[in-house]
Amino acid sequence: MKIKLARDVLESNDRIAREVRDLLSKRGILSVNILSSPGAGKTTILEHTIRDLGGGIRAAVIEGDLQGTIDAERIDALGVPVVQLNTEGGCHLTAGMVRDALEDLPLDRIDLLFIENVGNLVCPASFDIGESRRVVILSVPEGHDKPAKYPPVFATANALLLNKIDLLPHVAFDMEFLRASLARLNADLPVFEVVATVGRGFAPWLDWLRDGIRAAKEG
Ligand code: MG
Ligand code: ZN
Repeated sequence: MKIKLARDVLESNDRIAREVRDLLSKRGILSVNILSSPGAGKTTILEHTIRDLGGGIRAAVIEGDLQGTIDAERIDALGVPVVQLNTEGGCHLTAGMVRDALEDLPLDRIDLLFIENVGNLVCPASFDIGESRRVVILSVPEGHDKPAKYPPVFATANALLLNKIDLLPHVAFDMEFLRASLARLNADLPVFEVVATVGRGFAPWLDWLRDGIRAAKEG
C-alpha cells in the first residue's frame, strides 16, 4: 500500500486527463471512476466486486480521501495493489493526482483500475480524471431526489449502483420519482440494485464490468 499527498498541478486538467486515458487504453486497462456521497458504500462495493469478479481479472485501486488510510487498508487486505491519495481537504480528485498515483501501480499487471473519488456528489462530476467509465453509487437512505438535486454526476455516469436496496421497506423512497429523474437526465443509464454488505444483486454489475474489460483489451 502506498500513501501519497495528492497535489494539484498548474496544468490543464483536460490535457492530463487525455494523457492518463491514452496511457491506460494503450495498456488495455479499464479504468472506472467511482462517485458518490460519503457513506453510500463505495469501498464496500469495491471489496465485494474485487472478491467476486474471478476469472483471473487483476484489479487495482486508487483511493481518494481527505485524509487517512482506512479505505486503502480495506483494499490492501484483499491483496490487490492500492494507492491512497490524501487530498488534505480537497473535495475531488484531479487528473494530475491520478497520473501521480499511476507511478506506484504495476500497470503491466492490471486489467481493471478502480479510482474511488472523494465522497461528494458535486464537483467530482466536473473533473475528468482520465477514466474510461464513470459509475455513480446512490444508497437508498440518501433519498430518491438526489439525481433531481445533483444532476451533473448522474447525467455523466455510465452506470448507477443503487445500494442498500434492502432498506426500501424502512424508508420513504419513491422509486417512480427516481426512475423518472434518471429517464430525463440519462435515459440509457444501466441501474444495478444491490446490497453491498452481502454482495446481493452483483451478477449483472460484474457482467457489465467484464464486458468493459473485454472491450478495453480489444482496444
Ligand atoms: Mg470509501
Ligand atoms: Zn471539489
